[in-house]
Amino acid sequence: MLLDGRIAAAAAKQLIKEETALLVGQYKITPHLAAILVGNNGASETYVASKVKNCEEVGFTSTLIRLEDTVSENELLATIQKLNSDAEINGILVQLPLPKHISEANIIEAIHPSKDVDGFHPMNVGRLVQGLDTFIPATPYGILLMLEHFKIPSKGKHTVVIGRSNIVGRPMSILMSSNIPFGNSTVTLCHSQTADLASHCLQADIVVAALGIPGFVKSTMVKEGAVIIDVGITRVIDTTTKKGYKIIGDVDFEEVSKKASAITPVPGGVGLMTIIGLLKNTLLAYKKQHLAN
Ligand code: NAD
Repeated sequence: MLLDGRIAAAAAKQLIKEETALLVGQYKITPHLAAILVGNNGASETYVASKVKNCEEVGFTSTLIRLEDTVSENELLATIQKLNSDAEINGILVQLPLPKHISEANIIEAIHPSKDVDGFHPMNVGRLVQGLDTFIPATPYGILLMLEHFKIPSKGKHTVVIGRSNIVGRPMSILMSSNIPFGNSTVTLCHSQTADLASHCLQADIVVAALGIPGFVKSTMVKEGAVIIDVGITRVIDTTTKKGYKIIGDVDFEEVSKKASAITPVPGGVGLMTIIGLLKNTLLAYKKQHLAN
């Protein structure tokens, strides 16, 4: 089965759009996401433009704040403080990566946890670890929604997550082992220092590949019938395309898809669901801020 992100994302978007229309009709306030883009990295430009476009499509307001890549950390912190205290802004995201002279950790911690729709703030990560109500980081959230949409059972299964980053691998490993729907699996977290990674992968019912090495997961590394979630997005030069590059995932799709029972394509898979995670978090932030009383 192809785990087509276009299908799952379109269904989720429709529900978000309908809920937003109801809430806006009732409360006359529109969910509002503020995105900060520092510099003009090509991939970041594309991601932010897509986030803004998707916000508009579901009926949110979005504000894109563009800053030069020479902006100081203090100036960026001041911009975030302004958004933190702006009652009209429900969610704030700072597109990563940031220029080297800015500490990503400081920036993430500066976003008020109630507006942290990327779910990267240490307080929200702590809540995730403890199974408390929080903002789930958008990519892991999108993957859970993908499993839910295609009714892929995970309870009692063995999940191997490859990659331990704070934005994908680590939270994914926590969620897949948590006592939640589409969690409840036994998790092995592999990373760059894992010895004999293939032997771990071969035991997996579900593989989540999030390392950023194109075509890393080969068919010899997965067992027959495994579910394969490919998070990887790498731009590879391709002069035959209009853009001059193509997007390659972390999985050798052509070979692995012959063995897998279900697999996500790249592009058109997890990336589209990541946006859904962000939209759902923004709507959640809005509801918590406006409908609490
Ligand atoms: P990262 O560079 O922060 O982390 C990569 C992880 O992979 C590290 O934890 C490292 O230990 C591990 N790793 C590196 N080489 C390895 C190896 N040889 N064997 C095993 N593990 C290895 O990356 P990230 O931010 O987590 O992103 C990973 C990939 O996912 C990238 O291609 C990125 O573009 C993509 N991504 C996609 C989405 C999406 O929406 N689809 C969202 C975020 C990131």
